[in-house]
Amino acid sequence: MPIRVLPPALINQIAAGEVIERPASVVKELLENSLDAGARRIEVHVEEGGSRLIRVRDDGLGLPQDELQLALTPHATSKITSLDDLECVASLGFRGEALASIASVSRLTLSSRQSGAEHAWELSGGDAEARPAAGGEGTTVTVRDLFYNTPARRKFLRTPRTEFNHIDEMIKRLALARPQVSLQLVHDGKTVRDLPAADNAAAMARRLALVCGGDFVEATMEVDEQNSQLHLHGWIAAPTYARGQADQQYFFVNGRLVRDRLLAQAVRQAYQDVLFHGRHPAYVLYLELDPAQVDVNVHPQKYEVRLRDSRAVFHFIKHHLQQRLATTRPGDGGIPQPARLPNTPSASGHDPTRGLPLGQPRAAEPAGAYQASGGSAAAGGAAHQLYQHWAEQIGLQQPSTPPQNAIADAAVESFDAPDSAGDNADVPPLGYALAQLHGIYILAQNRAGLVLVDMHAAHERVVYEQMKQQYSASGIASQALLVPVHVAVSEREAEAAEAHDLEPFGIVVERSAPESLRVRRMPSLLAGQDPSELVRDVVAELRRTGASATLTERIHEKLASASCHGAVRANRRLTIDEMNALLRQMEATERSNQCNHGRPTWVQLDLQALDRLFLRGQ
Ligand code: ADP
Ligand code: MG
Repeated sequence: MPIRVLPPALINQIAAGEVIERPASVVKELLENSLDAGARRIEVHVEEGGSRLIRVRDDGLGLPQDELQLALTPHATSKITSLDDLECVASLGFRGEALASIASVSRLTLSSRQSGAEHAWELSGGDAEARPAAGGEGTTVTVRDLFYNTPARRKFLRTPRTEFNHIDEMIKRLALARPQVSLQLVHDGKTVRDLPAADNAAAMARRLALVCGGDFVEATMEVDEQNSQLHLHGWIAAPTYARGQADQQYFFVNGRLVRDRLLAQAVRQAYQDVLFHGRHPAYVLYLELDPAQVDVNVHPQKYEVRLRDSRAVFHFIKHHLQQRLATTRPGDGGIPQPARLPNTPSASGHDPTRGLPLGQPRAAEPAGAYQASGGSAAAGGAAHQLYQHWAEQIGLQQPSTPPQNAIADAAVESFDAPDSAGDNADVPPLGYALAQLHGIYILAQNRAGLVLVDMHAAHERVVYEQMKQQYSASGIASQALLVPVHVAVSEREAEAAEAHDLEPFGIVVERSAPESLRVRRMPSLLAGQDPSELVRDVVAELRRTGASATLTERIHEKLASASCHGAVRANRRLTIDEMNALLRQMEATERSNQCNHGRPTWVQLDLQALDRLFLRGQ
């Protein structure tokens, strides 16, 4: 075949393949246009999952009659004029491609009326001229029969329900991206979402609940951190709210939802150590920075961004979220312990069993951990030895389990009769211990009602945090390898290993050949692990982020398992003093709301919940 220049219609259809994957992509592009036009209210009507009809109506600035045709022309945009503009785009669109692409694979009508115009003007794809039309101020785009002329694409459409779910997810994202804009979604004549504009905190909480669910809102902690370059704000869910899927992770960079590995990793690393293995954190986060620092022109759908100073952003996010998560301990406020009694309707009326930690399987607990004392005492003995071994290695004093100390004594002194705690303004967040239940739980009374503490899980966290602190204070101890180990690496990795000082990580390497490193020392705690894997991981991470989380993670893992063995086992009888001491330690320990596996360490049963159990006052 001879070379030919493709006809414009075909060029557009090819381009459409990149941006318009399915009905939800049309919704995304049209909504973004409405938002760029300053709309305050947007209505989306969809029929048959969007394949039959998608109509987006906004009250934005609108278009003049003579620009309707241009709007449907490829590479025609009002949003940038030069490369300089592209360097700092503040609008969601800038490629001037969406309307032309959509028009090439559907029957599209664009109708618009600017403020002050006598009436609206309307233009359909293929029309030579706009004609007068009815309609209020703003713009309406109607897209019918999507992919009618591209059967290959049409074949890939799923059921209307599935396509609609994708559209709904898109609406959710934009609803979070622009809370001040009121949004309505109607499917086959039925209003599915009606989200009023949220311009104050209460309205925002309501929108968040409508989009992410009431239990998300109840479990969230607010974040608001700023330096001269970066502003991070939004909500992160308490670790105990973690989900089986990564389906509630919204990260907006300058108002644009992005799916960026580095950003997701920064959040993930902040949750490291408080999250149950294999669970995913939930968050709605907004990062604001100078648009010139962000390159959004990486991906046609603009889901990826390139940050000029990605390392600084990475550390900013990780650091602040980590700090925020450190305050998950009793009395920090803001995050009520999510547990409720099954069948106890919550105040907000949503299904109280969703995300209910009480019913979660204790996957990480060895089977039979809570069995008769004979067996577990034996197991505890072996575990204890193992723990002591670790404790000695890192120079820890064995935390007596749990120690009696001055705070505890004071706590006990002020504890007269259980009912005096009810009106005592100085009751600590976890209150005072009443009793031990089946050797597993501590029952305590605080101002709100009854507190139940999983004593092993709680003590495990307390010991773990102590070990981490002592460990980081004393630095990472390293130990010489009897026989240095050679690690094969790429030349770039070898260069990176030379360029970075690994000694603070307890690792000493030399370059032994262009593609080989000789490992002389390893962190003592990780002796016995494969040095080549460790060195390679650490070097790769140093290259990417300038710091190594791998190493800390692994050391923490070791400490975590040591603390698990060191923590008070089930079936240990504790005195009231010991129980109170543990409660006070929990209050003083960062992240103590969840154990090392991310499960809750305590739950609150307030008096109302107890009243409901007994149908009191109903
Ligand atoms: P882009 O958004 O990348 O500029 P589009 O093809 O999506 O490209 O839109 C082309 C142009 O049409 C926009 O630059 C804008 O000027 C105009 N336009 C599109 N939708 C709207 C709308 N809802 N309100 C006002 N103007 C619009
Ligand atoms: Mg656009």
